[in-house]
Amino acid sequence: MPKNQLLNDCLIKQGYSVTTARRLVFGALESQESITIKDLIGKLPGVDRSSVYRTIKLFEDLGIVKRVQIGWKYKLELSDNFSNHHHHAFCTNCKIILTLHEDSTIERAINSLARQHTFLLADHQLEIQGLCQACQV
Ligand SMILES: [Zn+2]
Ligand SMILES: [Zn+2]
Repeated sequence: MPKNQLLNDCLIKQGYSVTTARRLVFGALESQESITIKDLIGKLPGVDRSSVYRTIKLFEDLGIVKRVQIGWKYKLELSDNFSNHHHHAFCTNCKIILTLHEDSTIERAINSLARQHTFLLADHQLEIQGLCQACQV
């Protein structure tokens, strides 16, 4: 199912209408792996600032968006239902963020770790920090 169809279903099912602001915020999030709220506002000059904040708050409540800490910043990302599950690698020198796509070995290890601690796992975030290839010289 296309992601914007998923968004429409999610909003409508929970009693919210599909407004232009909601569509635009979703579109901007879709075109990025992760983004700060400040950059998101910058990408949406046609959308009122407070409306971006309200939309993000709603998206967080509905589980469409999650807040992830990458490096030293909080960023926004679409939740796993709306994008592909991934991890991050953060270069502490040039601050680049690399997306590490799903690795089933790690996913299994995390699930089993949660089970060992009788923890009911809902979500996880994983970030590795170090130097990217360009910064290793
Ligand atoms: Zn680097
Ligand atoms: Zn994972």
